[in-house]
Amino acid sequence: MKLSNLGEFGLINRLTSSVKNGAGIITGIGDDAAITALTPGMQLLTSTDMLLEDVHFRRSWHDPFLLGRKSLAVNLSDIAAMGAIPRWATLSLGIPPDVSLEFMDKFSDGFLAIANEYGVTLIGGDTCRSKSGLVINVTIMGEQIPENIVRRCGANVGDEIWVTGHIGDAALGLKFLEDSVVEADGFAFMRSRILNPTPRISTGIAIAQAGLATAMIDISDGIVSDFGHIAQMSNVGGIIHCNNLPLSKVFHQWGALLPEFPWYIPLSGGEDYELCFTANPRDHEKIDEIVKKSGVMATAVGIVTDSKNVVVVDKNALPLDLKYFGFNHFS
Ligand code: ADP
Ligand code: MG
Repeated sequence: MKLSNLGEFGLINRLTSSVKNGAGIITGIGDDAAITALTPGMQLLTSTDMLLEDVHFRRSWHDPFLLGRKSLAVNLSDIAAMGAIPRWATLSLGIPPDVSLEFMDKFSDGFLAIANEYGVTLIGGDTCRSKSGLVINVTIMGEQIPENIVRRCGANVGDEIWVTGHIGDAALGLKFLEDSVVEADGFAFMRSRILNPTPRISTGIAIAQAGLATAMIDISDGIVSDFGHIAQMSNVGGIIHCNNLPLSKVFHQWGALLPEFPWYIPLSGGEDYELCFTANPRDHEKIDEIVKKSGVMATAVGIVTDSKNVVVVDKNALPLDLKYFGFNHFS
């Protein structure tokens, strides 16, 4: 069977046939608009992301099942960064003629598998033909009680800057893919960090419900840039200590082989989809415990300051020249 024989409605049916109605859904796929009901007392959070072939992904690198997973994972990460509970998603596709039905079947299997894992129901979308390149747009909706929603704007001077999990692995994985490295130690691990990221949903919700984080964001463009958004929105600055950055064992081993340790990768590399948040140092132990309970670790990597910039310092407390790392916007 070919995609062209199936037609638009045949394809929509095929991609969405296994979707079951989940929480809060009054009318799902099939009508002109979906109808959903929020849990009483909660507010709606909506976020959308576009994935363009050869801009955000390459079909030659990305297995279709994992591409489907990642399409929703990056959106889930935005909901995690607000401390919200993910609920519903829409999926819009522009499909070029050279994509096979088998590819789309695997893509939707991956998308629906991760949706299922995180309690998200697909409630609609749009399906078109694309003249060049696969286009994927996902909109995600979540909910949370207003008091628990964590924004970018609440960081206070003196707060600790925290990061979940490890950073830098996804950017290193991308570098390996770009350089066609296939047999380096830890390659499979790094590759899975870029091709199959894990959104920190339960961690985001746990942090939000504890009421301890003053600001939060997910790390999609590197910690300096993403903490920079918190700093800007909160009208503060920050000091990040290189030596405190949580790096995986594989990253350490690989970095140690180079003439100079590649700090720029964990500092400015994208797509880790870990959470960065700020909190009062008196809550340090509680945060440690809460995040650990959610299945990852959290590391305090710096302090919020009253300056207007983000400074990165080395183990001797000397500032690194961020321009050297390509941070022109800090010059
Ligand atoms: P309309 O003509 O109103 O745009 P469509 O014929 O495009 O409606 O879609 C029919 C139904 O299928 C709608 O409920 C729509 O939300 C859903 N749908 C279309 N494409 C997708 C998709 N890729 N994923 C999920 N649902 C989809
Ligand atoms: Mg349509």
